[in-house]
Amino acid sequence: MMTEDEARQQLTDAMRALDARGLNRGTSGNISVRFATGMFVTPSGVTPDRLTPDQMVFVDGDGRVADGSSRPSSEWRMHMGLYQRRADVNAVVHCHARYSTILACAHREIPPLHYMVAVSGGASVPVAPYATFGSEELAAGVVQTLDGRLACLMANHGLIALGPGLHVAMAIAEEIEEQAAVFCGSLAIGGPQLLDLDEMNRIIGAFRQYGQAKTQG
Ligand code: 13P
Ligand code: ZN
Repeated sequence: MMTEDEARQQLTDAMRALDARGLNRGTSGNISVRFATGMFVTPSGVTPDRLTPDQMVFVDGDGRVADGSSRPSSEWRMHMGLYQRRADVNAVVHCHARYSTILACAHREIPPLHYMVAVSGGASVPVAPYATFGSEELAAGVVQTLDGRLACLMANHGLIALGPGLHVAMAIAEEIEEQAAVFCGSLAIGGPQLLDLDEMNRIIGAFRQYGQAKTQG
């Protein structure tokens, strides 16, 4: 169990890492971790260079925030909706990574062009329907599209990735952005040859046994 101070520090470090790795820019994006009966989430509209651990916001399971805390991310409903529906999820990363956003703006899912697409928990990475940022409609559409998966694109908006811990959710966000870039590149040379669904299902199974997955958060 992580402490409150650890949760605040992890979120601060992760928002800075998204920016440093070129996965996000400006005040775009938000990150949360499940904590006690609610979650800690990044504050709304703060650039990573100005972000400090004390600005992280605890939102309880009823959507309440303590007096005097920063305003939570405008997407807090999307984060909370995932914790309420997904017992397997303890961290959520949302960003506007470039190639994922290019595909999201074209409403094009990432097909099974590479075995690493399977880190998303499915054979492809679907696109959640468009709705205004911060809306309940967007939260509901994203929760529904992510059913059983760990990543999806968000139409005309960006990318969201989930994990049993923040380290995994960040790694999935980075890998899906890489696959989005590979897909855009392969479209420029005639389009990819896709892997078939049997092979993708084999890979999804193999990932359950891969590496140190059982011991990492
Ligand atoms: P926040 O700064 O409110 O988290 O909003 C950024 C964003 O990406 C909205 O979708
Ligand atoms: Zn966004």
